[in-house]
Order: sequence, then structure tokens, then C-alpha cells
Amino acid sequence: MTTSNTPTPDANRLDGTLRDTLHRVWGFSAFRPLQREAMHAILASRDSVVVLPTGGGKSLCFQAPAIVDGPAKAGRHDDTWNPASAGLARRGLALVISPLISLMKDQVDGLRVDGVAASYLNSTLLPHERDEVIASVREDRCRLLYVSPERIVGEGSQSLRRLLAHAGVRFVAIDEAHCISQWGHDFRPEYRQLGRLREDFPGVSMHAFTATATERVRRDIVSELRLQDPCVLVGSFDRPNLAYRVLRRGNLHRQLQDILARHEKEAGIVYCSSRREVEALADWLQTEGHRAVPYHAGLADEVRSRHQEMFLDERVDIVVATVAFGMGIDRSNVRFVVHAGAPRSPEHYQQESGRAGRDGLPAECILIYSGGDFVRWRQMLESNGEWSESARTLLRDMERYAAGTRCRHRSLVEYFGQTYDAAECGACDWCLKELDPVADSVTVAQKILSCVARVKQTWGTAHVTDVLTGKATEKVVAAGHQDLSTFGLLKEESTSAIRGYIEQLVGDGLMAREGEPYPVLRLTGSGMALLRGDGDCRLYREVAPPASRKRSRSSLRDTFTVTADSDLFDVLRDVRLRLARARGVPPYVIFHDTTLRDMVERRPKTIDDLHEVYGVGAKKAADFGDAFLDAIRTYRRPD
Ligand code: ADP
Ligand code: ZN
Repeated sequence: MTTSNTPTPDANRLDGTLRDTLHRVWGFSAFRPLQREAMHAILASRDSVVVLPTGGGKSLCFQAPAIVDGPAKAGRHDDTWNPASAGLARRGLALVISPLISLMKDQVDGLRVDGVAASYLNSTLLPHERDEVIASVREDRCRLLYVSPERIVGEGSQSLRRLLAHAGVRFVAIDEAHCISQWGHDFRPEYRQLGRLREDFPGVSMHAFTATATERVRRDIVSELRLQDPCVLVGSFDRPNLAYRVLRRGNLHRQLQDILARHEKEAGIVYCSSRREVEALADWLQTEGHRAVPYHAGLADEVRSRHQEMFLDERVDIVVATVAFGMGIDRSNVRFVVHAGAPRSPEHYQQESGRAGRDGLPAECILIYSGGDFVRWRQMLESNGEWSESARTLLRDMERYAAGTRCRHRSLVEYFGQTYDAAECGACDWCLKELDPVADSVTVAQKILSCVARVKQTWGTAHVTDVLTGKATEKVVAAGHQDLSTFGLLKEESTSAIRGYIEQLVGDGLMAREGEPYPVLRLTGSGMALLRGDGDCRLYREVAPPASRKRSRSSLRDTFTVTADSDLFDVLRDVRLRLARARGVPPYVIFHDTTLRDMVERRPKTIDDLHEVYGVGAKKAADFGDAFLDAIRTYRRPD
């Protein structure tokens, strides 16, 4: 990591300016980790790569510098300042490259509500809207311009680049920069051409932002964008506000019902592995009375964008989606992300589950999986010709996470090559003691291992489980396995418990799944050793968290101490919804849940009080303050 931390008078003054801007425009009182350093790199025109987890606050890193001036001119931060009339040089704009239309719109809407002159150029604009954006650039009235990579380096993009070169680009920020790398989880070929911006905007610094942690992706970003001596800032990958849980798939509907009971009226995403499953689950959720919609590539564009908008506008609570389509459904107050099947790598899991709790408030990530998920992935990757060494490794790592019996925060953080200092996180099934140790683990493990040996290491999980529970199925009888000494050896255990133990043994490396097309269980060296009485092993039973756990760390509503608070919260949510509808923006563009919650706690009486509330900038206080103050003033506690 290369950061210069020596405070110089200039840096100090700049810090003051940035802090003022943060408070005045966004209503934030402090930098998040590495934001300060990232902003300084931009203001010093030094290329940079900033890796922060989802929700880490990457956008602010380029938004704030775009509205304050560089070191030489620090101190002037009047957004309405007009260079032409002042007879001074142009201020120029920050060029932001962003891959998705919905993300662009979201950020620009948010900036405008905060009073920042931002715009985007993409195919959704009407001709007169487009002309207005161009005019604002030409007349130096635009501080941040968002464009897609196609628009800036694709066919016919030359005139835009010429316009921008003339307008003066202060710096280029590349959001979701991992899209440049084939090693990332979302490669986009258009991103590859962004390096050419160097020629069009010589001397302009480039700043890449991503949440993807791997070294390989980082290296690709640096070389593809031709970054020079970049300042590389890598944040901590832990997301302390997320509670991680892993469940083995049993009765999926029941398991979902338990989860949803903890998140009444809250937003969530349920990921499925197939379109069929998406449709079926969305239907089922609707009949159960939930406001849920499906979202997958098989839907007409028009339907898909309507469902996406309904979710963003809080007209529905739950999106059931295939993983291929997650990026556009970002909403900051997602309180739970369920995977109804294992993803293909920890990278994917981190990315997808990371869509929960972007506002920093407690949220829950639950993986519901079965061993078969990994077999299906393998088959799919093989048929696509994607079954490479790296795909195999990643899938095995995912399996290890799922079957793992240790702190989930720790395993994810360590997986991404960082150290985890806390002894326990207080926010995962392991640390919350939701897994119950099996008293005679070694004996149980030996019974399972010996059964695998007895069936000659040529059968899969389902069969081995049948033999152990003493089910004389057709296959069991045909193979003569009902005569084995291990037949019915664990008949007091449930099928799902045994499957769970098998996953754990595989995860611990005592057994392996091998062979195709039907993978079979085999003993590894350490598995053989344990069978001989050499070595140790611990197995756990999974205990589902109680459905109506009162003080679950994962439910926002439950963190309110009295119900009256959550009633006021609902009242404020309605005010927010009304304002959002009137402006045609999603509710969280008005205020995040975090802000409403802070209002509930502080009960501001005046506009001045409001300025102290988290996330209330000057413009928002002026525009929306009265509506919220009125609601708080007239609120009566229900009896
Ligand atoms: P990312 O792009 O890294 O996923 P965002 O830029 O969307 O994250 O920021 C996540 C949330 O954190 C947003 O709600 C944002 O307003 C908030 N946020 C960012 N910086 C700060 C800060 N310094 N103080 C408080 N909240 C912040
Ligand atoms: Zn933990």
C-alpha cells in the first residue's frame, strides 16, 4: 500500500475543505476508512486503485473531489459559482465511467437531490435532455458526468471526447473497474478500451474503484488502464454489519418462511440458480402474501426493468433473481440476501451477499445449499467449456465455506488474503452458537468413513446416507448393501443430519467427492488415518435460529427498543415515500434508512437540529426538512 500520510499545511487545509463539504453537502461527520486517502490521491492527480467492499463508500471518494477544487485553489466551494462571469479559467468536470444505466441514474438522482450539478449521458435520454446535458458541459455547469464505456470509447464516441477535452476533464473515475478483468466476476469487453482515454486526456489522472479483492484483478486494472505509479488503497473486506448463516437445504419453503419472519416488511433478495426456480419461488411468495417479483434474463426487457424499478421504489419488498442479474438491483436498505443454492465461488458469494446492508445497518446473509449444488455447477461449467483449473479451485473453496465450522467472517476475510483479528464476530451462525457440537464426533465420523469404505468408495452422498440410516432402497438392495455391517449404523440420525456431516467431512478434507458424471465419495489420506484412530475431528449439528428471535442482530426493526420507535420509523418512511413519488426518484435517494433511524432517536425539532442528523446535507434539510419535522412534531405514540 502506498499512501503518503505526512500532513502538510496544504493537505491539512484540503482536509478541512473535504470535511466541510462532506458535512454540508452529504450530512456526514467523518470519513469512512480510506476515503480521505482516496480523495487526496484524486486532488493530487495521482492515479489510484481503490478497493473497498460494497457499502464501503466508494462513490463519495470521487464525488467529493469533483466539487472541491484542487490544492492550489482549496477553500472555494461554491457550486453555483460561474467561471464565465468571474472571468476565470474553467472548473472542468469529473468524468465517471459506470457500466449500468440504472446505477448511473441512481447516483445522479442522489447527487442532484443533494444539490450537486451531475448528469449522465446514455441511450435513455430524450434528444432535448441530451442537448441540455451537452450544453451544461460546454458552459462548465456540470461537475460530474456519468457515461457508459461504450459511449466514451465505442463507435462514434469521438465527438464526445472532443467536447470533453475542450470542457476540461479534471479526472476520470472508473466505477466497477473489475469489469476490465477476465478474472473478475463480471468481465465486460468494452472496459478493455478505456486505456485509450490516456491519449485523449493527457495528464488527466485515472482512478479505478472496485469491490473485487483479488490481486490478479488489481494487476489487470493497473495494466489495462495504464495507470502510472498508482496509489493502491485496499480496505478491509469484513462487513461487520452482515450476519452470515449457512443452512443445508431441507424444506426450502419452511426455511424461507423462518427467514422472512425475521424481516417483516423489509427488503431482500432471494437468489436461485435457475429461471424456473425463480418463477416458482416468486409465485409461492406472492401466494404467501409477500410483495415479491421475479427477475431473470428470460423476462422481456420491459418486464424486467419494471420489476427492478418496483423494487427500487419500495413497491415490492423481495426480488427473486438469478445471479446473472444482480448488479442492477442495488438498493441500499436490503436487509437480507438469501442464496437458495450455492454460488460458484466465494468471490461470487461475497459480491452477491454483499448487496445486503449497504447502508451500514444490520443485515443478514443466508446460504441455503446442498452438496448437489456443486455437482450441478460442475456439470454446467463442463458443458460450457468453462471447467478450468481455476473454476475447480473456486468451486471447492465455495464448498469449503459452506461446510465450514468456524467463524464465517473470519473465513471470508482470510479467503481474501486478509487477517481477522477479533476472536469472534458476534454475527455468524458459528459465533452465535447456532451450531451444536456432536458429543462423540470422532465415532460418528468413523461410522460414516467406514461406510464409505464398505461401499468401496464408489457411491455418492445419497446412497451412503441411505445405507447409514438403514433404508433398503432398490439401489441398496441391488448392491447387496443391506447386508453390510454399516447398514443402519446411524439410524437414530435424520437424513439431513447425516448429509450435513458428510458435507463437513468433505469440507474438512477427510473425504473427497470425485469422478463423473456421478461424483462418488472417497476417503482421503487423513480420512483413512481417522478411521484407524489417528487424528481428530469435530462435527456439528445445525440449529436453525428461532423464527421470531426478538433481539436478532440481523433485523433492523428489532434493534429498536420500544415498538413506538418503529411506529415513528414507519411514519417517516411514508413521508419519504410521498416525497420520492413526487420527485420520481427511489425513496433512498431522499434519505437512507440510517437517516430515518437517526431522526427517530434524536427527534429533531428545528432545521438546525436536523443538520446534526446523519445524512442530512444543507440542500436536503432545506427541501425536505419541514415535511419530516412536521411528522415528528405531530407524531403521537400509540397506546
Ligand atoms: P459502494 O459504492 O462502495 O458500495 P456507496 O458509495 O454506495 O458504497 O456508499 C454506501 C453508503 O455509505 C451510502 O449510503 C453512502 O451515502 C454512505 N457513506 C459513504 N461515505 C460515508 C461517510 N463518510 N459517512 C457516512 N456515510 C457514508
Ligand atoms: Zn463469527
